[in-house]
Amino acid sequence: MGSEQKTVDVNFDSLLRIFTVPEGPDSTLTKIEDGLSKNLNQFLREHIVAEEKPLRDIEKDFSNPIIPEQPEFVSDHTQHLLDTLVAQSVHTSAPSFIGHMTSALPYFLMPLSKIMIALNQNLVKIETSKAFTPLERQVLGMLHRLIYSQDDAFYSHWMHSAGHSLGAFCSGGTIANITALWVARNNALKAEGNFKGVEKEGLFKAMKHYGYEGLAILVSERGHYSLKKAADTLGIGQESLVSVKTDDNNRLCPTDLKAKFAHLKQQNIKAFAVIGVAGTTETGSIDPLTDIAEICQQEACHFHVDAAWGGATLMSNNHRHMLAGIELADSVTIDAHKQLYIPMGAGMVLFKNPDAMSSIEHHAQYILRKGSKDLGTHTLEGSRSGMAMLVYASMHIISRPGYELLIDQSIEKAQYFANLIDQQDDFQLISKPELCLLTYRYTPKETIAALKVATKAQASQINDLLNGLTKFIQKRQRETGKSFVSRTRLNPGEMHHQNTIVFRVVLANPLTTYDILESVLAEQREIAKQAPKLMNQINLLTEEICQTNN
Ligand SMILES: *Cc1c(COP(=O)(O)O)cnc(C)c1O
Repeated sequence: MGSEQKTVDVNFDSLLRIFTVPEGPDSTLTKIEDGLSKNLNQFLREHIVAEEKPLRDIEKDFSNPIIPEQPEFVSDHTQHLLDTLVAQSVHTSAPSFIGHMTSALPYFLMPLSKIMIALNQNLVKIETSKAFTPLERQVLGMLHRLIYSQDDAFYSHWMHSAGHSLGAFCSGGTIANITALWVARNNALKAEGNFKGVEKEGLFKAMKHYGYEGLAILVSERGHYSLKKAADTLGIGQESLVSVKTDDNNRLCPTDLKAKFAHLKQQNIKAFAVIGVAGTTETGSIDPLTDIAEICQQEACHFHVDAAWGGATLMSNNHRHMLAGIELADSVTIDAHKQLYIPMGAGMVLFKNPDAMSSIEHHAQYILRKGSKDLGTHTLEGSRSGMAMLVYASMHIISRPGYELLIDQSIEKAQYFANLIDQQDDFQLISKPELCLLTYRYTPKETIAALKVATKAQASQINDLLNGLTKFIQKRQRETGKSFVSRTRLNPGEMHHQNTIVFRVVLANPLTTYDILESVLAEQREIAKQAPKLMNQINLLTEEICQTNN
C-alpha cells in the first residue's frame, strides 16, 4: 500500500457513481457481502480477533480529527474497517458471550435490515413513511395486546386512531422509560382552572398551582440507571428518585413502598409515579406487580412497569404468570433489542389508556398537523428509522410459539446452570434465576465452610478478599479466556448486606450449550489459581476463622 495506493479524484461523476452503481462482482465489498450472507457466524469468527488489545492502542487508530481531503475507494476503505474496527469489536453473538443482554440474531434480519435501510423511511410523519406508520401502529398494538389483552373491538377502535396512541416506538428502554415518566408527570400536573398545565407553564408554576413542595418517583434499589436520567431530564432531579427497599430476593418491599408514600406526603411531596421492575438488569428479579398496582390505585399514582428486559417473557404461556399484575400497569417498557432478538435500537413503551399520551402531544405547522396520524406527535424522538419492520417480521417469522420456545429454553438453561453451580463445592450461587439471569461467585470450598461460622467482621474481611478475586477472575477471563461473563455488585442478605461482587450471567443466546456452561466454571476455577497471593490471603483467613470459631 502506501505510495502505491490508487487514489480517487473528487469529481461529481465519481460521486454520482456511489449513488447509482453497485460495487463490481470482484470488489472487496462484494466479497465481504457474499461472505456475510453465506455464513454470518463464520464471518464474525474470522474477522473479530479474540486477543485483547488495550483500548489505548485501539484509540491510536481513531485519533485523527481531520476530515479526509482525499476520497478512498470503497473497497480499500472496507478493508480498513475490517482491520481496525471489525477486528477489534466484541463478538456479542458468540455462544460463550453470556455476560450481557445482547444475544445472537436470527439470520433473516440481515437482508431485511438492508431493505429497511435502503427504503430509509422516516417514521416521524406519514409523508415520509406511508405504510410504515400503520405497520408500526400494528406492532404497538401487538405488544399492547400481549400485555393488556383487550378485545378485538378495542384494537380496531384505537390502533389507527389519529388522536390516540397505544404507545411509542423508540430507540430503547431509556427513552421508553423517559417517555412513560414524561406522560405521568404531565398527567399529574395537568391543566386546571387558570393553570394551563406543566407542558405549557413549566414545573415552577405547576408546583405553585398545585401547592406541592416537591415531586418524586419511587423505584426499588435495583431500578435501572436510566431512571436517574429520566428524573434529571424531567426537571425533578436525581434525588427525587426515591429508593424503595428490596427483600432478600431483590424484589421491592410493598410495606416500605407504603412507608415511603407516607413519608413523602408528610413533606407535601407528590409521588407521581411508581416503577415496578419486571426483570431487574442485575439479577433478573421481578417486583410484586399486583401489590404495587394496588398501592398505586390507593395513592392515585401512575404505575409504570420497566420490563425492558423481562417483558418478552409474556410470549411464553408457560412463564408469563411470573409477570402477573403487569396488566394493571398504566404503562410498560419493553425492549425488542433484548429478549425479542431484534438488533439494537428497538424499544417500546405501551400505555393501557389510548388517551394517556395526549398530555405530551406536540404539533407543528409543516408536519405533525392536528388530526394527522403522524407518529411524531407522540414521540420524544424526531426522525426515526423503520425498525418496527424488523419487529413485525420477527413476530411473523418466529411467531408467538417460536418465541415461547426461545424464552423457555433460556429459563431452563439458567436453571441448569444454577443447579450446576450448586453442585460445585467451590462456587456460590448468589441470586437464583427467576428468568434467565443469575449471579454467583467463586469461593474456595474451605472458605464457604468458614463463612458459615464466621463473625460479621470476619465475613466482611473475607468478603473484601473474595470481591478482589471475583474482579480478577472476571477481568482475566474477558481478556484471555474463551468466555465472557459480566460482573456487578449486590448486597445479599446472606452476606450481611455487605457489598458483594458477583459474576452476572444472561443466558438468552440459543446457541449457548450446557458444555459451554461447564467450561465457563472450569475456566474460572483455573483463573483463580493465577492469583496466588490473593488465594493465599483467603486461605490464611479461612484457617483463622475455622480455628477461632470451632
Ligand atoms: C436495558 C434496560 C433498560 C435500558 O434500556 P436501553 O435499551 O439500554 O436504553 C432499562 N431498564 C431495564 C430493566 C433494562 O434491563
